[in-house]
Amino acid sequence: MVFTGAGISTESGIPDFRSPGGIWTKMMPVQFQDYIADPEARRVSWQRRFEMEETWNQVRPNDGHKAVAELVARGIVAAVITQNIDALHQASGVPEDQVIELHGNTRHAKCLTCGARVEIADIRAHFDKHGDAPDCRLCGGIVKTATISFGQAMPEAEMARAERASLAADLCLVAGSSLSVYPAAAFPLLAKRAGAKFAILNREETDQDPYADLVIHGEIGPVLTAAVKAL
Ligand code: NAD
Repeated sequence: MVFTGAGISTESGIPDFRSPGGIWTKMMPVQFQDYIADPEARRVSWQRRFEMEETWNQVRPNDGHKAVAELVARGIVAAVITQNIDALHQASGVPEDQVIELHGNTRHAKCLTCGARVEIADIRAHFDKHGDAPDCRLCGGIVKTATISFGQAMPEAEMARAERASLAADLCLVAGSSLSVYPAAAFPLLAKRAGAKFAILNREETDQDPYADLVIHGEIGPVLTAAVKAL
């Protein structure tokens, strides 16, 4: 299995959280509780989402995503567990049923009460006119991007799929994660405890380097491309 974080998408032009210049050095994320309780927090959150729209529309999979897709296509990788919300693994050709998005997807929105899907463009049209996001048309619930915010419950089905993939893996490759956001970061350790070899590819040290069988400090695109070529 491959486990990816924000670092696999920096070469596509999406900043990660913790590198210098990363998103956290510029703004604190809106907590889930605040999103629910405070219309102003929702407004700020949507404003930020719309500011990212151009980026989300322009970004394309990079060499790192393509190398992972190649490993999936060759049948070497069975599951790609990702913390990313950018859907670039799917865009690089990994079939939907082999991608496990632990933190959801920012390409659409969902009603927090009934789960109905809502398109971002429709929310934006309402926001531009009224200055806030619309409530769910079906049940009146609060609508939010289909991502998992800090303080929000993890998605049950994806957690179960990630657990199964981790227990079944004979090798877990982590690419581009600081391995510091839990519970997501527990899956590579679960795989390791269940008998998998554990490899980490990251630009800088991670919290789990001491537990890995192989650690490569390097850039994901060039390193993974060379590794796949050598197989
Ligand atoms: P993180 O920011 O904590 O860690 C990213 C790691 O990748 C860092 O250690 C950094 O050194 C490394 N890195 C960056 N670019 C690299 C490259 N080209 N080659 C090798 N290493 C590189 O990210 P995380 O562990 O995924 O946790 C952050 C949370 O932020 C996640 O929960 C995720 O949902 C969210 N997030 C997602 C995106 C996205 O969807 N692209 C972007 C930012 C944040």
